[in-house]
Amino acid sequence: MSDDNLFDRALVRLEEAANHLKIDQDVIEKLKYPRETTKTRLLIRMDDGSRKSFLAWRCRYDDTRGPTKGGIRFHPDSNIEEVETLAFWMTFKCAVMNLPYGGGKGAVRVDPRALSRSELERLSRAYVQAFATTIGPDRDIPAPDVYTNAMIMGWMADEYNQITGSVSPAVITGKPIALGGSLGRNDATARGGFYLVRHLAEELGLEENHTVAIQGFGNAGQYYAALAAADNNKVVAVSDSTGAIHKPDGLDVDKLIAAKTAGRCIADLADALGARAISPDQLLAVEADLLVPAALEDMITRANAGSIRAKVVLELANGPVTPEADTILNDRGVIVLPDILANAGGVTVSYFEWVQNRQGYYWDLEEIHSRLKKTMEREGRAIWTIGRERNVSARSAAYIHALGRLATAIEAHGTQPFFAG
Ligand code: NAD
Repeated sequence: MSDDNLFDRALVRLEEAANHLKIDQDVIEKLKYPRETTKTRLLIRMDDGSRKSFLAWRCRYDDTRGPTKGGIRFHPDSNIEEVETLAFWMTFKCAVMNLPYGGGKGAVRVDPRALSRSELERLSRAYVQAFATTIGPDRDIPAPDVYTNAMIMGWMADEYNQITGSVSPAVITGKPIALGGSLGRNDATARGGFYLVRHLAEELGLEENHTVAIQGFGNAGQYYAALAAADNNKVVAVSDSTGAIHKPDGLDVDKLIAAKTAGRCIADLADALGARAISPDQLLAVEADLLVPAALEDMITRANAGSIRAKVVLELANGPVTPEADTILNDRGVIVLPDILANAGGVTVSYFEWVQNRQGYYWDLEEIHSRLKKTMEREGRAIWTIGRERNVSARSAAYIHALGRLATAIEAHGTQPFFAG
């Protein structure tokens, strides 16, 4: 792992992309700092009558292209640096997909599993009370992230409505369908990655019935497995935080998902699925055409990147590959489809939710899928072409693509030569 902090590492991508474009220095000056990060403490009443306070943040990184957009994470390790880095990535992700949004992110430092349901509801509502003037359908639009879900989004939207005295479902996305959520949001992240891989399959050297290994069998990982298996591909290995299993002739994905839904851990499923239990690091080294990291940040590092045998890595997780590992993979000819493109299906369908909320007219699932597919294919193709033309990795191409759009917007307010001239 790199010694640099997460944010400094993220900024390296900005500098690299800037070297490929003729952009005004104003653009870098604007994008190298978050516009606004607010820190507060949420004080809530616990079930035993005591009061407890939790650190919370909301970062609006850049709003040149539109209201800021980004999830809220509830995690015991959350910190300001992570929030600002995730908000930076959201800025680029929204630009990659040409969504009319800037980037934002929020977090509460808490282990939500240690809270009762009522405490969790009070904490979620307290977050909105604290940030009621930061968020808003035209200002900053949160969504779920790690350890937050649709019900939490529903509580938060309700709290916002009570504070403002009106009903504004567009203030937050990822809500339950009955409260203005969009069809197709559940599997949007995985589905976006799946459409991308299918569209570029020939260029990626992936046959129709390729093999897949998935690290992290949560929301994104499970939906990816289901889509890949339904498309005649073989899911040969999966892992979660408890362990990993491997079956070279393909795992029964339906059984696997049913067992996970019933609360079983991957580590306990080897026998039931006729698979071999392996270590989480061995999962990275199994024979598979496609490796899908869908767990957390910094999972593929200098220490294990050399063992990866896949031809292609699809980053459904945010930041799963460290910069050193990225270089190793590039040098070895492994194609990495970067997070800001590969997992952007989630924010894209969040955008569709916001649009539907604002127009008060809701689309059917077919319409959502077809719009998502079109967007993933359009931006994926554009990035692939930039990569070929400039002889750079898909990651660099994605940053160049996004920075081009951000620069055009920032420069539209006037540049240094304009004002000095
Ligand atoms: P999740 O909590 O549902 O799933 C994460 C999974 O990773 C869990 O199964 C967990 O057991 C597993 N895991 C944790 N540590 C692991 C380890 N060391 N080895 C193997 N597995 C491990 O979360 P999710 O919503 O699926 O998100 C996963 C990643 O995708 C995150 O990086 C998230 O930011 C990113 N992402 C998710 C969405 C979305 O819409 N869900 C959108 C964009 C990006």
